[in-house]
Amino acid sequence: MQRVVVLGGGVGGTLSANLVARKLKKEIAAGEASVTVVDATGAHAYQPGYMYIAMGNEKPEKLVRPERSLLDGNVQLVVDTITGIDTAAQVVALGDGTQMPYDQLVIALGSRILPEAMDNFEAEAHHFYSPDAAARLRKALDGFTGGKIVIGIAGIPYKCPPAPLEVAFLVESELRERGIRDKTEMVFLSPINRAFTIESVSEMATPIFEEKGIRLELLAGVSEIDAERKVVITDAFEEHPYDLLICVPPHKGAQVVIDAGIAPKSGWIPTDRHTLQVKTVAKPAPGTPDEAVPRYPNVYALGDATDLPLSKAGSTAHFEAPIVAERVAAAVQGREPEGKEASYTGKVMCFFEVGDGKGTLLQFDYDHPPKPPKPNQLWHLGKIIFNKTYWQTVPKGRV
Ligand SMILES: Cc1cc2nc3c(=O)[nH]c(=O)nc-3n(C[C@H](O)[C@H](O)[C@H](O)COP(=O)(O)OP(=O)(O)OC[C@H]3O[C@@H](n4cnc5c(N)ncnc54)[C@H](O)[C@@H]3O)c2cc1C
Repeated sequence: MQRVVVLGGGVGGTLSANLVARKLKKEIAAGEASVTVVDATGAHAYQPGYMYIAMGNEKPEKLVRPERSLLDGNVQLVVDTITGIDTAAQVVALGDGTQMPYDQLVIALGSRILPEAMDNFEAEAHHFYSPDAAARLRKALDGFTGGKIVIGIAGIPYKCPPAPLEVAFLVESELRERGIRDKTEMVFLSPINRAFTIESVSEMATPIFEEKGIRLELLAGVSEIDAERKVVITDAFEEHPYDLLICVPPHKGAQVVIDAGIAPKSGWIPTDRHTLQVKTVAKPAPGTPDEAVPRYPNVYALGDATDLPLSKAGSTAHFEAPIVAERVAAAVQGREPEGKEASYTGKVMCFFEVGDGKGTLLQFDYDHPPKPPKPNQLWHLGKIIFNKTYWQTVPKGRV
């Protein structure tokens, strides 16, 4: 019996478990293989919808479904917290004391937001990275009648890199519609030396900041919040007073992978960019080529959990899952991984809202940077339709 254990029932875990179960149908029926997802909540959240709660267009209860309803009948689900991973003994420890052995392990534990990691963040900053926080931001926007809005980012990397830019553009459109734009000053604090990490996207977004009259400050990562003076202090020690502060909270990978020695303190798991196998954390001798860093032959990571230099996006997990599934199924079946699914190309595809009912599309891979089309209504509609059809498509492996 070959036991495939998938940690995390988000986009990456659910989709890869479903795809592995499909590939191992015969082996599962013959009792030669099993596929099990372990998730702490047993509920699957569609996180991109949180931004729309903040914008007043979505309800929190529409963004969560039972994980069981999204899994193939051949996938078992265990609802419990993962408390330990022992790669030497090939065992995962669960909150109830169960020791779960595995032959193939897939780690899809996502990322954590840590608003508590920055003093005054929870009391002063609004964000949209949880349903509750997004609902509170909505209330704050409803009560806003003019003043200074600062939008910032408290640490890289964070989930969905375009999201704070999208929120800036959407809030600006809303304020214009509400007739209070001229009473509002808007500032966007970018932590790097341009509007967005990828140059071509930055070139698309920078004129939009200009057109919308949102001041763009560069090299301005949020490092401190002075609650008394209502001022944000940046990495470059610049101060920005605010009436309403919207800030992406600090992020880290799952604590359990740090504790297990699979990831460094950041929690991002060292991962092979093509095979998605997990690399050992121990620092190789200087000059060691990346290919020579040992990989665990039977441990994979995908989605937000990895250290790959790609967007932490559901889309990334979506395009990584077929590679993980093919490699895991091949190992179980005792064959070499085959075809296009043998190696990840770095493919990511994300919609990007720019306000006023318009959007664009970021499509790229390791070798091809995005060439975002001129924003139009079609891409905005594309995002809305994608959001509505998500439950029937992505986690079930239908697109
Ligand atoms: C506001 C916002 C907007 C976004 N917009 C977009 C977008 O437009 N496009 C896009 O592609 N992406 C977007 N994303 C990002 C996307 O939601 C994430 O990148 C995606 O969910 C990552 O998938 P994942 O499977 O890696 O992790 P997740 O979906 O976060 O799943 C991780 C799972 O692991 C479980 N887990 C964690 N720790 C444990 C533990 N110790 N024990 C048991 N279970 C555990 C959790 O319960 C969870 O179910 C957005 C995110 C946010 C917050």
